[in-house]
Amino acid sequence: MRETKKGMLLVISGPSGTGKGTLVDRLLKEDPSFVFSVSCTTRAPRSNEIPDVHYHFITEDAFEKKVQEDAFLEHATVHDHRYGTLRSEVYEKMDQGLNVVLDIDPQGARHVMEREPSCVSVFVLPPSYEELYRRLHTRNTEKEEEIAKRMRNARGEIAQKHLYQYLLVNDTVEASMEILRAITRAEKQRAIRYFPEISEEEETNHVDC
Ligand code: ADP
Ligand code: 5GP
Repeated sequence: MRETKKGMLLVISGPSGTGKGTLVDRLLKEDPSFVFSVSCTTRAPRSNEIPDVHYHFITEDAFEKKVQEDAFLEHATVHDHRYGTLRSEVYEKMDQGLNVVLDIDPQGARHVMEREPSCVSVFVLPPSYEELYRRLHTRNTEKEEEIAKRMRNARGEIAQKHLYQYLLVNDTVEASMEILRAITRAEKQRAIRYFPEISEEEETNHVDC
């Protein structure tokens, strides 16, 4: 049997610190059909980040130029920095039959859901606000003021969860990965992106039934 596949666009969104990056990293490690869409950002790289692997780190001017050129599928200002998903990252990979995963904030996710209605959208929730606060602290990448801003934003973002196809409460990473595997497994079989061709030959190999 021959089969053709069209890439899936998987949008993972949710409040900062809820565990999106952790789940996306795990998905990329265990499922080679997925590739990451490397976003552009105007924020400075963190010590553990590799340019063009985690982000394309660019200046405000370079970002604005890309906006003018319509290079972004979506872009947003998140916690005072600009972030954008490049069309080239998404469509070139999907055209190769790869599944593309976006780890983007809820403003950007809303734009992608409007522009690409066939995308698969997953909103990641924390088990509680207390746990979200704890995770933002233990990650140790933001100062207290930044954490407070993320906690304030989280409430408004969570209020928009009904816009997504799937909701995932990220209690343990293992349990969340089980859910994510189930979602991606089922979504790969959708008739909009999976085209099995049943050959005549296979049919004649069988006796009457
Ligand atoms: P996001 O990408 O949504 O901002 P991260 O993936 O950076 O969030 O996770 C924030 C922090 O929470 C990190 O320190 C990460 O190791 C931790 N974390 C992620 N998922 C879980 C989980 N299920 N249980 C406990 N800690 C988690
Ligand atoms: P961080 O700076 O911690 O890596 O990311 C901050 C937030 O920006 C996260 O919620 C992340 O999902 C989001 N983000 C990363 N890339 C993009 C993007 O291309 N577009 C949008 N809208 N958000 C992004």
